[in-house]
Amino acid sequence: MRQCADDACRFRFPAPATLVELPCPRCKGPTLVVMTEKPEGSPRPERSPKPVTSPLPLEALLDNIRSTYNVGSMMRTADGAGLGRLHLCGITATPEHPGVGKTALGSEDAVPWTAYPNALDAADALQAQGYRLWALESGLQAGSLYDVQSLPDAPLILVVGNELAGIDPALLARCERVLSLPMQGVKGSLNAAVAFGIAVYHLRFGVPAFRSATTKR
Ligand SMILES: [Zn+2]
Repeated sequence: MRQCADDACRFRFPAPATLVELPCPRCKGPTLVVMTEKPEGSPRPERSPKPVTSPLPLEALLDNIRSTYNVGSMMRTADGAGLGRLHLCGITATPEHPGVGKTALGSEDAVPWTAYPNALDAADALQAQGYRLWALESGLQAGSLYDVQSLPDAPLILVVGNELAGIDPALLARCERVLSLPMQGVKGSLNAAVAFGIAVYHLRFGVPAFRSATTKR
């Protein structure tokens, strides 16, 4: 990961650690390598949430999604499942980008969204507001999406990360739970937007306690 050295910007994005100099895509200022390895066994803090006023207690944080088409597809999923808001971090394109509309097909006007240069700052602010963060990511720490029996009694944000690099390790460390999809073929993961769709629909409509509490849109 790299991060803009300018404290007013703090744009955080995935990039190979081998590049010596790489300007900030947002402000063109200098950037620094901030983390190259995953922290081992980092604890997942249990937060005691305060109530949050939200149209629906399920939202999503999309960090450094590379493909604008994937972003548009996720927007369409968010609209279909009635997510309360999308938090668009790092290089994740906003609906102003023409590529997003090609797959969002109008849903980009219906889904509330907020953009942030730095997902860690966004996560910290959202957790301080009482949101709980769960990650969608393959890997050893992950449990199956289909083992989810109940959801927290607080607004939940599903976190997804870059198609190649995965979720920023420092962002993953802020998530209380890591969910993955079962994979039975030769590939270790699905397309990011496809995986997002399966996970969002399962959490929204497939987990009984949540379904009964939130079906109103
Ligand atoms: Zn910058």
